[in-house]
Amino acid sequence: MQRRIFGLETEFGLAHMPSRGPRMLPEELARVLFRPVIAWGRSSNVFLDNAARLYLDVGSHPEYATAECDSVRQLIAQDRAGERIVHRLAQDAAAALEADGYEPRVYLFKNNVDSAGNSYGSHENYLIKRSLEMTRLSSWLVPFLVTRPLIAGSGGVTAGEHGSGFVLSPRAEHLWEPVSGSTTRSRPMINTRDEPHADASLYRRLHVISGDSSMAQGTTFLKIGTASLVLRLIEAGERLPDVSVANPLRSLRDVSVAVDSPAPLGLADGRTATALELQRTFYAHAAAFCEREGATDEERDVLTLWDAVLTDLEEGTDTVLSTHVDWAAKRSLLTAYAAKNALEPGDARLRQLDLAYHDIAPGRGLASILEASGRLATFVPEAEIEAAVEQPPSTTRAALRGAFLKAARAGEVLTTVDWVNLRVNADPHSQVALKDPFETAPAAVAPLMESVSRLSTAS
Ligand code: ATP
Ligand code: MG
Ligand code: MG
Repeated sequence: MQRRIFGLETEFGLAHMPSRGPRMLPEELARVLFRPVIAWGRSSNVFLDNAARLYLDVGSHPEYATAECDSVRQLIAQDRAGERIVHRLAQDAAAALEADGYEPRVYLFKNNVDSAGNSYGSHENYLIKRSLEMTRLSSWLVPFLVTRPLIAGSGGVTAGEHGSGFVLSPRAEHLWEPVSGSTTRSRPMINTRDEPHADASLYRRLHVISGDSSMAQGTTFLKIGTASLVLRLIEAGERLPDVSVANPLRSLRDVSVAVDSPAPLGLADGRTATALELQRTFYAHAAAFCEREGATDEERDVLTLWDAVLTDLEEGTDTVLSTHVDWAAKRSLLTAYAAKNALEPGDARLRQLDLAYHDIAPGRGLASILEASGRLATFVPEAEIEAAVEQPPSTTRAALRGAFLKAARAGEVLTTVDWVNLRVNADPHSQVALKDPFETAPAAVAPLMESVSRLSTAS
């Protein structure tokens, strides 16, 4: 399957951080943040005009789930649009706090672990064929994900019982199983809960929950693009060498902590290999496959960047690494700051700097400052990101959902919507199920649109 559906879910850390005066607790702040959403959407769980889902689960982590995309660049635009949407809510919340006598310092962090050590997620969704056998899938995907922090980790300063230091993936410490159907009791790398949000006889939705949230566009590009290539190899039935790791979770943590002296990982067949060697193996197979079977321009771009990042890691150079990969960009900042201020590795100021990298406020968050000064590469023009705040991807069923929601809202027609189903509440027969995520023909929602125009206040 060369054309694929992607979606990214991001849970944000939310905090009021006054320099003085009373501090609002995250739960209460989350309620303030969602006040405008509830005002127009009558719920804290809504689909937006750009066909994305914005919601607040129990707790205090607002979540934005992008609409279905069919290219990685499109996904970057939709993901970034989500940051803007929640940032604008945070600005409104800050104003509301100020009116209530609080200092208006509201922060949203696109990271995965809070100061109390709780982890929240970044979920990657990939459409895959139902016919793909799950054991074959995981025998390749698990070692790929175990070693992926090398090219897509967000990096982080740790200060815990194991001492302080730098890890490639803060999320790695919070995973307990390679593959499972549960997300809370035993957080797995791949969640197998079977909710395809599509025709279940044809498709599955692969749900990867082991990755770090990404700030740098280059990291999202690599993280999603390389995973999609690996899926393509597996789907095509390629004969691949067995690189199953003996103990995936231990290996994931070993990969994450061994930044400069990569320890060999134990493979299931008794051999050992470093994470870098395994990534190189995946790359080589993907490159050979694309050479033989053909590839999209985007897949070629992914291969080029993947190769360059691995070469940097192999040779100790930095031709693309710190302009594309979060952990490397962050580590350069930390190293420079620690040297300038003569800080010890466990210094609290380094943890603050780490956190500031994930602050999504433009011009305040360190990743955004690096990007604005050209020190983080971009893959999507600014205008495309701003357009994605309002507009769904035009090449997937999200376009139909977005058009339906926009028309219904303009006409004050109440609707019920999920990833597949669209319905006008006052017209129970109007329900349409868009089981094909690639569907874009307006005819598929024509009866719904007629129902909307009949019931619209405007008509
Ligand atoms: P939870 O957040 O409780 O785990 P969930 O995994 O169903 O639930 P949502 O937050 O509703 O997640 O987000 C679903 C994500 O899956 C979205 O980003 C969406 O674009 C994507 N998606 C929807 N349908 C498909 C599909 N058929 N294949 C791949 N991705 C899909
Ligand atoms: Mg979700
Ligand atoms: Mg999810």
